[in-house]
Amino acid sequence: MRRAQKDNIYDVILVGGGIMGSATAYHLLKNDHNLKVAVVERDPTYTRAATTLSMANVRIQFSLKENVQISQYAFEALDRFEQEMAVDDERPHIAFRHEGNLFLVDEAGITHARKAFELQKSLSCQVEWWSPKEIMKRFPLYDVSPFSAGTFGPEDGHLDAHAVLMGYKAKAKSLGATFIADEVTAILKTRRMVSGVRLASGSDLISSKIVNCSGAWAAQVAKTAGVEIPVIPVKRQIFALDTKIKPEAPLTLTVLPSGLYFRTEIGNLLLLGKSMDDDPVGFSFTWDDKRFTELLWPELAEFVPAFDTLKVVRGWAGLYAVNTLDHNAILGEWPELEGFYLANGFSGHGLQQGPAVGRYISELILGLDPALDLSAFSPQRILENKPLSEGGIL
Ligand SMILES: Cc1cc2nc3c(=O)[nH]c(=O)nc-3n(C[C@H](O)[C@H](O)[C@H](O)COP(=O)(O)OP(=O)(O)OC[C@H]3O[C@@H](n4cnc5c(N)ncnc54)[C@H](O)[C@@H]3O)c2cc1C
Repeated sequence: MRRAQKDNIYDVILVGGGIMGSATAYHLLKNDHNLKVAVVERDPTYTRAATTLSMANVRIQFSLKENVQISQYAFEALDRFEQEMAVDDERPHIAFRHEGNLFLVDEAGITHARKAFELQKSLSCQVEWWSPKEIMKRFPLYDVSPFSAGTFGPEDGHLDAHAVLMGYKAKAKSLGATFIADEVTAILKTRRMVSGVRLASGSDLISSKIVNCSGAWAAQVAKTAGVEIPVIPVKRQIFALDTKIKPEAPLTLTVLPSGLYFRTEIGNLLLLGKSMDDDPVGFSFTWDDKRFTELLWPELAEFVPAFDTLKVVRGWAGLYAVNTLDHNAILGEWPELEGFYLANGFSGHGLQQGPAVGRYISELILGLDPALDLSAFSPQRILENKPLSEGGIL
C-alpha cells in the first residue's frame, strides 16, 4: 500500500470509533505499523454508541456456521485481550464472566434447535442439550412446563463492553492511530472511487480506503456516497429490575423462544430485554418503563413466578443497526464504489463480532488472505437481494 505523506492524507479512514472502528484500527496497525490510520468519532464519550449500550453478551450459540466461527475467534481473542491490549503497564480489565447462556426450546423450535446444536458440536463448540428436568435442577425458579428442552453454552457470558472498547482504542492509539473528534458529513469520491471524507468542522481528509463503521447511522453515511444499504436504526430497551425474591446463584442469560431474555447483573439486579416487532425505527433514546410493566412483566412472571414482585430500578435504550435483508453483518468493499468498505448491519450481536470483523476488514484492505473466510457476508448479496439463511445463501 502507498504511504500517506501529508497531514490530512491517510492510508485508511474509519468513520465511527465504536467496537468496529476501534478493532479495525487496531488490526490494521497490528498488521502494518507504518500505516496512517484515522478514526473519526463525533462522540468520544460514546453515550449513544451501541457498543456501550449493549448487554455485552458473548455466545457460541448461532445457527449460521460463520457466526459460530466468529464467536470462536471472539472467545480466543477475549481470553488473551487484557494481555494483548496492554499499553506499557496499563491493562484493560474486561471482567469476562463465563456464566453461560441458556436457550429454552419449545416443540415448534426443536428441529431448528437440534440442527444448530449439531452444527455447533461439529465445530467442536462447548454446548449441552438439557432436558426440562435438567433445567429445573439447575434453575429451580423456572417453570419449564411449556418447554421441551434447552441448549446451554457453559463458556458463554458477558463482559465490560466499555473496557473492551477502551482497550482496542488505547492499543490502536499506542500503535499510531489518530482519533479525531469530529463528524463525517460526506464521503467524497471521484467517479467510482472514494477520495476522502468531509468533516463537520469544515476540513477534508484524504484517503482511497474508507470504512463505514458508523453503526446505526450506517445508511445515512453510505448515502452521502450514493450507496444504499438496508440498515435501519431500531430502538431496543433494557430494564434493570430489583426482584423481591433473589435467586441463590446468578441466573445465566436465559432466552425464551419469544425472544425475552434476562440475566443477573452485578448488585443482584436482573437485566431484561426483548426485541419486539413494534420497536420504534429512528434515532430516539428515550426509554419507557410501561413497556416492561405492561408487556414484559406478565411473560416474565409466568416463566419465573417468584418474580411477580419486583421494582423497575432503571433502564436504557440503544439502537440496533438492523440489516433488514437478513439480520446479518455486511462486510467488505461495496462492489460499485472502489475503496468504500462496510462493517455494518450487526443487528443485536455485533459486540462479540468486533474482534473477527476488525481482523477481517483489515485483511481485506491490506490484501492479505483472511484467517477466517467471511465472504458469505459480502455486500454483493445486498445488490443481488440474496439473504443469508441459517445454511448459507438461500
Ligand atoms: C440494547 C442493546 C443490546 C445489545 N446487546 C448485545 C449483546 O449482548 N451482544 C452483542 O454482541 N451485541 C449486542 N448488541 C449489538 C452491539 O452493541 C452492536 O452490534 C455493536 O456494538 C455495533 O458496533 P459499531 O461499532 O458498529 O457501532 P457503535 O458502537 O454504535 O459505534 C458507531 C459509532 O459511530 C459514530 N458515528 C456515527 N455516525 C458518525 C459520523 N457521521 N461521523 C463520525 N462518527 C459517527 C457514533 O457516534 C458511534 O460512536 C446490543 C445492542 C443494543 C442497542
